[in-house]
Amino acid sequence: MHDVVIIGGGPAGLTAGVYAARGGLKTLICEEKIIGGQIVLSYEVENYPGFPQGISGMELIENFTKQAEKFGVETSYEGVKSIEEDRECKSVYLTNGSCIKTKTVIIAAGASANKLGCPGEKKFTGKGVSYCATCDGAFFRNKTVAVIGGGDSAIEEALYLTNLAKKVYIIHRRDRLRAIKILQDRAMENKKIEFIFNSVVKEIQGDKLVNGLLLENRKTKELNRLDIDGVFIYVGVTPNTAFVADMIKLDENGYIITDDKMETNIEGIYAAGDIRVTPLRQVITAAADGAIAASSAQKYIESKF
Ligand code: NAP
Repeated sequence: MHDVVIIGGGPAGLTAGVYAARGGLKTLICEEKIIGGQIVLSYEVENYPGFPQGISGMELIENFTKQAEKFGVETSYEGVKSIEEDRECKSVYLTNGSCIKTKTVIIAAGASANKLGCPGEKKFTGKGVSYCATCDGAFFRNKTVAVIGGGDSAIEEALYLTNLAKKVYIIHRRDRLRAIKILQDRAMENKKIEFIFNSVVKEIQGDKLVNGLLLENRKTKELNRLDIDGVFIYVGVTPNTAFVADMIKLDENGYIITDDKMETNIEGIYAAGDIRVTPLRQVITAAADGAIAASSAQKYIESKF
């Protein structure tokens, strides 16, 4: 039997792994996609303490992973279908049909990028529609691109794209950005960026590849076509909680409710990182959640087993 099964290998899950395994617990991380979570898509992380020059999301995660491996964390690249509570322990059912018995579970499965849901989005994904500027930005060297959204991700990635594209439109549905001020100021000062406010994408248009957007001004209802070569969509995220929705208490937006020990409504099941109700979703807060969850799991095991 495992002491801790951690669902998700992003900053929260990897940090929980470091703390649990370093504390002598038999620890397994289940990650169905790639280790690292959303942060591996970030070209540069500027606000994680200890790296005054900044560090790429990928490099930061490589360091997290090395540290977890050093303390003996095991990894399974299988998705988790469901969790069940037995009398003495928890059963974690994997997508390959197998079942892992564990004393505690830490849910750190993060969140996934939202889709716009407009015509053309699905058809042109990978053909000019992207959700990752770091991955796909290089295809748009000296071209014109649009970024949809007004949050930190949209503005940060638009700034990154100015290193490659000749022109970057930021299209936002309101006239005020949600992003933090330092990012807003940088974007406003950048000559390659042009804002189109109060506008929504009605259709992503193209032939074989994307060649334009049909935009609607939300105030005047006027429709306009904008010629572009690529579109990067950053319209928020949704927590990956569907697989536990029938047993774990969620808020109205689907985020897991925890107490300050990261414990959910079920004893011995914890949540950490972007998946839980929290006032700040950053690498540093995800890592801190992971550390608290692992320490709580250790105390629970010591008191129960
Ligand atoms: P977010 O903060 O939820 O912002 C999403 C943006 O997309 C908002 O501007 C929203 O508009 C817009 N939007 C949502 N649905 C839309 C739709 N259907 N059509 C058009 N626009 C739509 O999401 P995020 O930027 O991905 O950030 C997620 C979390 O990660 C946040 O907590 C953020 O602070 C954090 N983060 C931090 C950093 C950093 O610190 N460096 C970097 C990236 C992300 P409204 O403003 O009108 O709602």
